[in-house]
Amino acid sequence: MEKFNKRCVALYSGGLDSLLAIVIVKNLGFEVLPLFVKTPFYNKNEKELKKQLYPMGLKLFTKEDTEGYLEIIKNPRFGYGKNLNPCIDCKIFFLKKAKEFMDESGASFVITGDVLGQRPMSQRSYTVLRTIEKHAGLEGKVLRPLSARCLPETLMEREGIINREKLFCIQGRTRAKQLELAKQLGLESFESPAGGCLLTDIQFSNRLKEMLTKNDELKNREALELLKVGRHFRIDGYKFIVSRNEKETKLLLEKYGNLPRIECLNAPGAVGVFLREPHMNAVIVGASIVKRYSKKANAMIFKGEREFIVDVKPLSDEELEKYRAGGNSVREKA
Ligand code: SF4
Repeated sequence: MEKFNKRCVALYSGGLDSLLAIVIVKNLGFEVLPLFVKTPFYNKNEKELKKQLYPMGLKLFTKEDTEGYLEIIKNPRFGYGKNLNPCIDCKIFFLKKAKEFMDESGASFVITGDVLGQRPMSQRSYTVLRTIEKHAGLEGKVLRPLSARCLPETLMEREGIINREKLFCIQGRTRAKQLELAKQLGLESFESPAGGCLLTDIQFSNRLKEMLTKNDELKNREALELLKVGRHFRIDGYKFIVSRNEKETKLLLEKYGNLPRIECLNAPGAVGVFLREPHMNAVIVGASIVKRYSKKANAMIFKGEREFIVDVKPLSDEELEKYRAGGNSVREKA
């Protein structure tokens, strides 16, 4: 017989469903340890998540394993969704991290904000939910308070540690019931369910796909962060990122000022950064690309191990496309 206690780990994403799951189980007298599994592709601000939990007297725990996560993106056992989102493998990965934390913290089960039938891949049926928990080594030990009553009993319910009648049977894509429940539970500050995961974005997925075989870049935190910024090019094997607006120019100059870069000389315009010191041909092509986006500039300046002026013509649109890494930018086409 499994021994359960009243401490559980909650997978917390900052979205409404996971917040509801936490509040429901906490209100039933359990000690809930919210865990945020950090990945480079999930746009959530940890500070905000902490702020959300603070009024409930809950502390946020985090786990991060970028290398492990990249491995599942490269080779997901259960395949991808529409883009580079390996949702089933990703959920298994998150649950494995929750299990690790469960063992470390002395908790005895895990809760999630899963809603049966809400997401097309990872929540489409009970069979999928069961597959996910089985591969995470948590069979029967994952409680989904929002859908529990329309799912078979978990071990915790069977052992009488939690009363099934106090849980819910929400299913499907509409969020009306969750919003109603949030109101009943007095929850006001929660994030919109949309967005969050960059792997579901086609443009981002194309950029990441282009980078998946470049192990040195995948190990580089800056390279991963920069996937979210600018126009991306590959020149003779060198990754080159060019700002699209003033805000990105400022970001590239200030946050990534350590990288070799091409700036406009004595004129406002774009800036382009290389992830590593480029050879001369790459500098010349890079300068032509920056000039293509900087109409007011006469000459470019390269700032790397050496510093020198590069006088080039702007690259033609046709030439530019040859260097594009991961396809066109949606915003750029507009
Ligand atoms: S949408 Fe992204 S974060 Fe969510 S399960 Fe899929 S891959 Fe993971």
